[in-house]
Amino acid sequence: MCGKRFNKPQYKVLIYKPHPQYIADLIAEGKLHKKENIAFLKKAKIKKGVERLLPDLHDEAFEKVNCLDCGNCCRSISPRFKTPDIKRISKFLGIKESDLIQQYLRLDNDGDYVVKNSPCPFLNFDNTCEIYDARPGDCANYPYTDSGDFFKYPNTTAENTLVCPAVNVVMEKLRSVKL
Ligand code: SF4
Ligand code: SF4
Repeated sequence: MCGKRFNKPQYKVLIYKPHPQYIADLIAEGKLHKKENIAFLKKAKIKKGVERLLPDLHDEAFEKVNCLDCGNCCRSISPRFKTPDIKRISKFLGIKESDLIQQYLRLDNDGDYVVKNSPCPFLNFDNTCEIYDARPGDCANYPYTDSGDFFKYPNTTAENTLVCPAVNVVMEKLRSVKL
């Protein structure tokens, strides 16, 4: 593999697979319930044991939502490319770390490497990831629906309801839980 294969045309955003209706509907849910979601997540942050609800809800969400129908995270936000990610990905692609950085990454305000532009240059038109086996840790962990971070960072989780349909499946169930 070499960097060349990722020189995709700038108009690629126009030819990504459109979202099926169920994905669009679930993302719309996030906008509709944004205030309730933030209120719930802030309460849940200080509630002991609430994270025990997550594994089942995570499984349920990803039975309903197929990432290959979506790709929304890869189209609209960037993972951080930490040093071990950069090492692993450049090895996977067979290119120098400096070339990976120079060609695809920039430093954000927090000093983390992120993609220069969204959609992510490694996202294929069919929503698969060109570097799946070497993808950044952030990509593997997103959307944190099976992690304590889901409640630890309520504002981030609330932002993710605007991006990720699976988060909205989880939030829909959680909103009916009495805290
Ligand atoms: S590296 Fe792969 S999984 Fe991560 S944002 Fe890019 S396309 Fe998506
Ligand atoms: S993790 Fe969420 S936003 Fe990303 S592709 Fe899967 S369903 Fe879509």
